[in-house]
Amino acid sequence: MDIHEHQAKEILKGFGVPVPRGIVAYSPEQAAYAARELGGKGPWVVKAQVHSGGRGEAGGVKLCKSDAEVADYAKSLLGTQLVTKQTDANGKGVYRLYVEEASDIAQELYLGFVLDRKTERIMIVASGHGGMEIEDLAHEDPDSLVRSVIDPAVGLREYQARDIGFRLGLDGKQVNQFVTFLQACYRAYRDLDAMMVEINPLVITRQGSLIALDAKMSFDTNALYRRPQVEALRDPSQEDPREAFAADHGLAYVGLDGDIGCIINGAGLAMASMDMIQLAGGQPANFLDIGGGASPERVCQAFRTVLSDKNVSVILVNIFAGINRCDWIAKGVIQAYKEVGIDLPVVVRLSGTNVEEGQKIIRESGLPIISADTLAEAADRAVAAASQKIAAE
Ligand code: GDP
Ligand code: MN
Repeated sequence: MDIHEHQAKEILKGFGVPVPRGIVAYSPEQAAYAARELGGKGPWVVKAQVHSGGRGEAGGVKLCKSDAEVADYAKSLLGTQLVTKQTDANGKGVYRLYVEEASDIAQELYLGFVLDRKTERIMIVASGHGGMEIEDLAHEDPDSLVRSVIDPAVGLREYQARDIGFRLGLDGKQVNQFVTFLQACYRAYRDLDAMMVEINPLVITRQGSLIALDAKMSFDTNALYRRPQVEALRDPSQEDPREAFAADHGLAYVGLDGDIGCIINGAGLAMASMDMIQLAGGQPANFLDIGGGASPERVCQAFRTVLSDKNVSVILVNIFAGINRCDWIAKGVIQAYKEVGIDLPVVVRLSGTNVEEGQKIIRESGLPIISADTLAEAADRAVAAASQKIAAE
């Protein structure tokens, strides 16, 4: 689960990370008021609060010299969709802004805490070259990257943090600040079950102090049950509505850009089906795993989820029933026709437990369901049905 920059900064500040002073605003009036409240002669930085990086390049971050300029910029930004390199073509809705006192930047660094699956530990990735996305950094200046794995038994030791600081080229005084900075980020990560803490850029100001100019945190959803204070920060306006709907119904769903809706059981079979669709020349609209022991009701919810995506032009149901039962799946498909109202081609491939009963139910339903025996056949038929539908429109 992702949170907003202003929330991440609030959390990190509580652990002792230095951040610029800032105020959240939901309207142009509030934004101008925030600038006056922060005081000083300016400039102020106004930042779109969306769950995405790359806001600067996309026009979502601006240095403003007066409260009037803050209000004007806020007016032009609030209520729009911000499209960045990291979002899809729809972008993310801007409903709140963060107004900060501007910092005087002497140098920008990169700092990230991630979960390294290979070592099963939290790893620090840092670079003396900040501001760029980590992917670009790894591509353009891989030698600048410093990696360091934290031993959970002893935590982040001071000597380890000092070593990273010196490898980044910081001087003695900066290294002392850097040690405190790093340990505070590490405690926030560990104590709140984070998956990622990214400070990009971490800046050294002209006055010589270190400050988190940007902050991004994301959290392990499996640990949210014990972190109600983190769960309270969830912002549904930033979530893909298709994925939010699916999560509410206990389905594992990831929205994609294609037009072939997939209802599959098992993550492995779902991945294989998506590959087969691509091999047959089509594009999947989603990943969806209905899970084991799927009741007709659950199958019905899966149809609702897939159909909530307006790009879908055909639905492929592919079930290999082990714990599942093909007759239940078949009943679910028929229930979906009755309750959800389906006017798209549906391709069904059933295999495994109670397959004969399942196929019989489909045959006798009198519904225009396209059957298939193998995965390859199912993918071919789905792709053919999708292209026919496009040709007909
Ligand atoms: P992102 O593009 O979504 O990662 O947003 P950031 O918070 O990283 O801001 C993008 C860029 O705006 C930064 O890399 C800085 O160059 C610039 N920026 C942000 N805050 C300030 C500030 O206080 N002063 C100055 N001079 N530039 C800033
Ligand atoms: Mn950034």
